[in-house]
Amino acid sequence: MNLVSNDSRILSYVGGKLLSSSSGRVGPVFNPATGDQVGVVEMVSADEVNDSVTVARGALDSWANLAPAKRAEVLFTFRGILRARAGDLAQVVASEHGKVVADALGEVQRGLENVEFACGIADLLRGRQATEVASGVDVVEIRQPLGVVAGITPFNFPVMVPLWMAANALACGNAMILKPSERDPSASVMLAEMLTEAGLPDGIFNVVQGDKQAVDGLLSHPDIQAISFVGSTPVARYVYETAAAHGKRVQALGGAKNHMIVLPDADLEAAADAAVSSAFGSAGERCMAISVLVPVGDIADPLIELIRQRAASLKVGDGRQPDSEMGPLITRDHETRVKSYISGAQTDGASVVLDGREPEAALGFFVGPTIIDQVERDMPVYRDEIFGPVLSVVRASSFDEALTLVNSNPYGNGAALFTASGGAARRFQLEVQAGMVGINVPIPVPVAQFSFGGWKNSLFGDSPIYGHAGVSFYTRTKVVTSRWQTAGPGLSMSFPTG
Ligand code: NAD
Repeated sequence: MNLVSNDSRILSYVGGKLLSSSSGRVGPVFNPATGDQVGVVEMVSADEVNDSVTVARGALDSWANLAPAKRAEVLFTFRGILRARAGDLAQVVASEHGKVVADALGEVQRGLENVEFACGIADLLRGRQATEVASGVDVVEIRQPLGVVAGITPFNFPVMVPLWMAANALACGNAMILKPSERDPSASVMLAEMLTEAGLPDGIFNVVQGDKQAVDGLLSHPDIQAISFVGSTPVARYVYETAAAHGKRVQALGGAKNHMIVLPDADLEAAADAAVSSAFGSAGERCMAISVLVPVGDIADPLIELIRQRAASLKVGDGRQPDSEMGPLITRDHETRVKSYISGAQTDGASVVLDGREPEAALGFFVGPTIIDQVERDMPVYRDEIFGPVLSVVRASSFDEALTLVNSNPYGNGAALFTASGGAARRFQLEVQAGMVGINVPIPVPVAQFSFGGWKNSLFGDSPIYGHAGVSFYTRTKVVTSRWQTAGPGLSMSFPTG
């Protein structure tokens, strides 16, 4: 696999081949576990963004006109290649992102599920029809691809999030330009090469490497029909507003502050396991990570102690080492930022129950698991998305108080409730203001048959991503009303009715 050229320059992939940029702009790519720079990503120029769209447009028609079952064949072959190379991808993700290999394999698996869903595209694109809506008149609704679409993805899931978008976008008959995160750009190029190997025509899936400059080129390009974005809330809002102002269909998924309420009747051991896995897995760099624990009533002390014991024993280290359970953060800047939230919380009067500011694995960009108790809702550690291994505890005296806390947060990605009460669970699922809800499940990422999307500041636009929502997003409907073989109603100047 021709991923990185010899001098560790990470390239774009356009028209079925690697593209070296002539812009002269590059960005460093680090191994976060060692802190070493392991490559440079060549960022495309504005002209190269335009060229990639021209290439995609040129390739589009024959792909769009192919029978959906034929497109599914390519995806089916791709699925096999992806499965076979999951280990290679996971290693690359572990070395550029830092997450542990088992976690990276999990992300590949969740991406694969989206490809498997898209393999059923022949059925998913089947339109609707109504016969004899008026005498001799039938109506058929058909779904057609949009054209060239773009995906802009974050660093934290360099395989899964591109596949959330690409699987359906391609299956629906579109061509795609992907602009992955510049911090871990290699996995996207691997995906592009695998798609080519699977038989995807050149120019249908292209990767342009870059930063805001490349994003801006895509948001304003007249031949890009739709933008799928996943990333932080400020950028999601910007992407939504800018792309919409340029007349595009947009789905822009943003950040999160996910709460986990634990009621006094919950199984505390299970809740502690769930809190640790979901707060500290992938070093908290997941948009569905639990970052706020809300224990209700007098279970707070014993629950925090159970969580502290488990978190303190996690093995923090290089994600490529088999015994590591939690890896580093993505950059030195991010490490500094996360540590500053911990210090700030302490200054604000919160109590640091477990302090990860001086982890054992100190070479790279590490912060250890951190638990902060007595957090108040006006503290920055509660208000902001930290995106690190920091669990804030906001105590509540009742379920009502806990639910009000969750619902008054400006984010609404995921929320979880741990309880043994069916009544409480039912009330939670109906009243909580979040797009993805877990009942005794801490990270309720929907499986590929459903769709992923938050509420409030976690999603701009009206479309969640992947699943059936993804098929709707990447197609437009056309409704055909036809009359054959019977005479029409004759000349009539009034509006047609049944
Ligand atoms: P980010 O917003 O910094 O970057 C996301 C993408 O936008 C990258 O491709 C980046 O190059 C580009 N970008 C960055 N700044 C830009 C700007 N000013 N203008 C235009 N484009 C810009 O996000 P990140 O740090 O890569 O990822 C972490 C964030 O993503 C967290 O906030 C996390 O919650 C969020 N996230 C959300 C979901 C979800 O489904 N809701 C999933 C994963 C990650």
